[in-house]
Amino acid sequence: MLKKDLIILTVDDDRINLKLLKSFLMRNSDVKEVIEAKNGLDAIDILKSRDDIHVVLLDMIMPIMGGLEMIQKVRANTNLRQIPIIVLTTDETKKKEAFSYGANEFLMKPIRNDDLIKKINLVLI
Ligand SMILES: [Mg+2]
Repeated sequence: MLKKDLIILTVDDDRINLKLLKSFLMRNSDVKEVIEAKNGLDAIDILKSRDDIHVVLLDMIMPIMGGLEMIQKVRANTNLRQIPIIVLTTDETKKKEAFSYGANEFLMKPIRNDDLIKKINLVLI
């Protein structure tokens, strides 16, 4: 990875997705911590509570607060707006919308691990 001691926030309402993402990411020696959130609201609370998160991996469809609404809230917040967000979704039709809301990158599920690493490196530049 381009950065050492990476801290990644993963946001998904599907526990299995979170588990898979975490176990894959933690295999990379540059990843220090993977934090899990189950919806956008949860994720925003976490982002507000700590300032050491390097990148957010974000699902779109979630209860309470979905991905698009979360991106909107993050980009409207002066303290959070710089954080890179990579959208992970099964719905390709959401791509344009995600970018227009301020997503940095977009990946289709099922996620290929090497693609994910490439995207993470891209947003860390
Ligand atoms: Mg979902």
